[in-house]
Amino acid sequence: MTSSDNPPAASPFEALLAVQAHDTRLDQISHQLAGLPARQARDQAAAALRAIDDEVEAATAERSDLARQQKRLEDEIETIGAKRAHEEAALYGGSVTNARALQDLQEEIDSLQRRISGLEDQELEIMEQIEPVDARLGDLSRRRAEAADVLDAAEMELTAAEAELAVARDAEQAARDALVPEVDPTLLAEYQSLRAGRGGVGVARLVGSQCGGCHLGLSAMEVARIRKLGPGEITHCEECGRLLVP
Ligand SMILES: [Zn+2]
Repeated sequence: MTSSDNPPAASPFEALLAVQAHDTRLDQISHQLAGLPARQARDQAAAALRAIDDEVEAATAERSDLARQQKRLEDEIETIGAKRAHEEAALYGGSVTNARALQDLQEEIDSLQRRISGLEDQELEIMEQIEPVDARLGDLSRRRAEAADVLDAAEMELTAAEAELAVARDAEQAARDALVPEVDPTLLAEYQSLRAGRGGVGVARLVGSQCGGCHLGLSAMEVARIRKLGPGEITHCEECGRLLVP
């Protein structure tokens, strides 16, 4: 839509009524922009992704804790294993020949091996705990990718919906701006001030005996007075105070 869509205004008041029509449409577009269902969908998709990210964070922390426990056990097994290897070297090295000393060495080696076996059992338990956490992380990774796709699509829909309304808004704004020079600046200022305090409607037409702004009926005497006004005269609704165009 361009300014050429505005029919030539018959009077300054007709031009003001046309400005009002564009302002009303601009208010509607702002309202539509603020309440776009696509924005709700986008917000929901973003919240769903955040919830999955929270789950990923918790599972990752759990996984790291288990990995630390496993590493600690492996380090301990390695240390004790080295000690056992050292004792075995002494046992089979030939430098120790005393039977009692050899028996002590063997007992020490057996004791170290029992500790290693115990630690290996613990490590196995940890590995069994890691398995379901890894499965959960894999599942979360898939769900996260899906949720990210949903969010991307929602973002695109929102952008498209916003762009569509922005085009309509710009056209209304251009049409309104083209009309403004036809309206007396003092009248326009009064209209804008009235509009701000009266739900966006600052000027209305008298329809029969009813104000088109507040929809209240005016007295017969008042209607007669308004009908007799000269072409350049403006009046106000006695009920709502809006500018009233006969
Ligand atoms: Zn009124």
